[in-house]
Amino acid sequence: MEHVFPDLSSHIIYKDAATPNTLQRWTLNYKGAAYGWAWTPSQFATPSFTNNSSIENLYVTGHWTTLAHGVAGVAYLGRDAAKEVLTRAIGYAAILTN
Ligand SMILES: Cc1cc2nc3c(=O)[nH]c(=O)nc-3n(C[C@H](O)[C@H](O)[C@H](O)COP(=O)(O)OP(=O)(O)OC[C@H]3O[C@@H](n4cnc5c(N)ncnc54)[C@H](O)[C@@H]3O)c2cc1C
Repeated sequence: MEHVFPDLSSHIIYKDAATPNTLQRWTLNYKGAAYGWAWTPSQFATPSFTNNSSIENLYVTGHWTTLAHGVAGVAYLGRDAAKEVLTRAIGYAAILTN
């Protein structure tokens, strides 16, 4: 970098680094997996997911319940889970139909 920006290091006042261990410590995700399941052949073959767990009235969501990565994917899943809860609770989820 200093080849391009001479004397860069003398202007750095804070340096940090993160490993998967850091991510696991901060996010509690298994082995620090930032996005949940990896897009590898062995994990990609995981059976399809659902918001319903095997326990009645327990719904699951988040990046371990999908192969969709990132914030947008989990936001959508959270909406789906909320819709299922509302539909079951009051039989109506018009507020979340769009
Ligand atoms: C460094 C980093 C950078 C990223 N950058 C991007 C990016 O640029 N764009 C993008 O789309 N995605 C990014 N991601 C991925 C994205 O942040 C995750 O996919 C997403 O936040 C997962 O949402 P989630 O609701 O499944 O889990 P989380 O957001 O991890 O939420 C789970 C919550 O449950 C809590 N929790 C865990 N265990 C327990 C327990 N036993 N009791 C109570 N609470 C508990 C945790 O503290 C946490 O608040 C990044 C991830 C990391 C780590």
